[in-house]
Parts: sequence; C-alpha cells; structure tokens
Amino acid sequence: MHQTSILNLKKRLTLPELTSGILAGNRVTLSKGITLVESILPEDEEMAAALLEALLPYTGQALRIGITGVPGVGKSTFIETFGSYLTSINKKLAVLTIDPSSQLTHGSILGDKTRMESLSKNPNAYIRPSASGSTLGGIAHKTREAALLCEAAGFDTIIIETVGIGQSETAVKNMVDFFLLLMLAGAGDELQGIKKGIMEMADALVITKADGENKKKAAMAVADYTHALHLFQLPASGWTARVMTCSAKENEGIAEVWDAIQQFETHTKLNGFFVQNRKQQNKTWLYDCFNHLLQQEVKKSQTLGAQVNELEKKVEAGSISAYQAAKEMLKKFKAS
Ligand code: GDP
Repeated sequence: MHQTSILNLKKRLTLPELTSGILAGNRVTLSKGITLVESILPEDEEMAAALLEALLPYTGQALRIGITGVPGVGKSTFIETFGSYLTSINKKLAVLTIDPSSQLTHGSILGDKTRMESLSKNPNAYIRPSASGSTLGGIAHKTREAALLCEAAGFDTIIIETVGIGQSETAVKNMVDFFLLLMLAGAGDELQGIKKGIMEMADALVITKADGENKKKAAMAVADYTHALHLFQLPASGWTARVMTCSAKENEGIAEVWDAIQQFETHTKLNGFFVQNRKQQNKTWLYDCFNHLLQQEVKKSQTLGAQVNELEKKVEAGSISAYQAAKEMLKKFKAS
C-alpha cells in the first residue's frame, strides 16, 4: 500500500491528467504540476507551457497577497494565524514562499519543515515552499506560474511570502494585488534592514508581536510609521498604506488585517487600479518570459554561447560596461 502510493507519486502524468487533476483541486496533482513548471529541463518547459495555456482561463479570480519582513519578524507565525482565520471564513488559501537565501547559501531562512505546522494540516490550505531557480528572476517567474496553478486548483486567496532582505520584494510586488510588510516595534529601520523603497511598496505595514510588554512599543511604532508614510507620495493605487499592530500569538489584530485588505480591494476595484495593475503585471510577465527565452536561445547556440562567455568575463572584469556588452550580445544574436 505504502509502496503503491510512492509509485503513484513518482508516476509521470500526461498533460490531460495534470490539467483535469488540477482543475478538480487534487493536491498531489497540483504539486506535480508546480514541480513541472519549476523544472529547468527544456523538455519539461514545453509541457509546462502547455499546462499553463490550458489552465489560464481558470485563473485570475483569486486575491493575491504578498507578505514580507526580515527573518524573525514573525512571518510564519502570522501566516499560520492569518491563514487559519481565512479558512475559518471559508477561504481556500495557498501559500507560496520565495526564499532567495536558499540559492545563495544552499541553506534556507524560510524552508524548515516545522514552519506553519498547523496550517499545513488544514484541509483548506496548501503550502508550497520556494522554487530554487538559477536567478532571482527565475524564481519569481516560476512563483507566478505556481500561483496560477493554485488558482486553477480552486484556491481563492494566494499568499506569496518572501524574506525582507531586499531583492525579492520587487519581484513579489509585481505579482500580487496587495503587499504587506511586517515590522518589529522598536528595532529601528536600520536594524531591520528595511529600505525606504520597500516601505513605499507596502499597502499595509503591520507591527508584529504586539502583546505583553511589547504592546506599548508597538503603539508607538504605529505613530512613527504613520508619520513616516505621510511623507511619501500617494501611490498610483490612490490608497494610503495602513499601519496596524497584531499579535499572531494572541490572535489579535488578525481580522483587522483582512478588513484592510478587503477595503483595499474595494477601493482599487472602484478606481480601476486593481485591473490596471494586473494588466501591467501581465506585461511584466511577458517581458520576463521573453528575457528568459532569449537567454535560453543564446545559451543553446554553441558559437553564441562562447562569445557571450567572453563578454561576461569582460563585464566581470569591468573592462566593458554591462550596457555595451548587452548591445554587443544583441548584435551577435541578430547576426546568428
Ligand atoms: P519568521 O522568521 O519571520 O517566519 O518569524 P517566526 O514566525 O518564525 O517568529 C520568530 C519568533 O517570534 C518565534 O520565536 C515566534 O514564536 C515569535 N513570535 C511570532 N509571532 C509572535 C507574536 O505574535 N507574539 C510574540 N510574543 N512572539 C511571536
């Protein structure tokens, strides 16, 4: 029995099997589908593209939420509590994580198995740890696709989690409707490594661990950040970022975060930003895909590959600017 299930897991599914399994909300099939879209093997890429094509009409209905914050801020504890709350109000939640540290260090800040233990057993939640691509762009590219597969499988709320250490935020911002930044009270922006740019991206700033002795500090942080945010320009969404506190441990402030997200959704659907933003994101996706295909094309060609390696070395050594090298690459590509 046990052996059969292992064999089943390993069995390669056909495209129609993947498509119908995912549309039926089968989690094992969904996981296999995500593994396929994350694969870097050229033979898998074609099937992955066909799968996405088949599923695309069934996507787009979910609300996509990005969550970031430095390690230790309380992301996984927050997502556990917030996720349980969402499923208690009949939401179906998929959580995807992007962890840039896993490819840099081959270790993972986010990836230990004990994270979100109770949520991982929740029948209305699905948790998928990060894909590890060769580039950050690669990871982001696959995460967007993984999110679409989750939507096709019937998940109506998607959380994309990333570590707030700077590089992956923009990528996540480019694939979500709402971007949530978790912050610690009293740690100082410097200490938290949070750059102004990341604060500017946030639609809500939530001060975590607002319980016990920390409560007062959290309230002070709200005042400080509210003041800081007022100095920023109003973003294209027309939405002023909310600053809130929560305690995931005490289950406080969680419903309020969801309220704010819903208010944002209503506000941006009314003023047209929601749809406009998704259109823009699709365009970004197009160029991400195009860049990816172009790079693959270049790598596939032996002569071009060698010339590109030369250019890479020159850029590394600083003997030619990246822009100049890119122009050369394009010229060689056109001539090939
Ligand atoms: P992550 O690295 O951002 O995912 O952070 P974790 O969720 O793993 O939390 C880091 C630490 O903060 C853990 O020891 C948690 O128990 C603790 N923590 C998380 N949320 C709360 C909270 O709401 N209140 C308190 N007091 N501690 C918390």
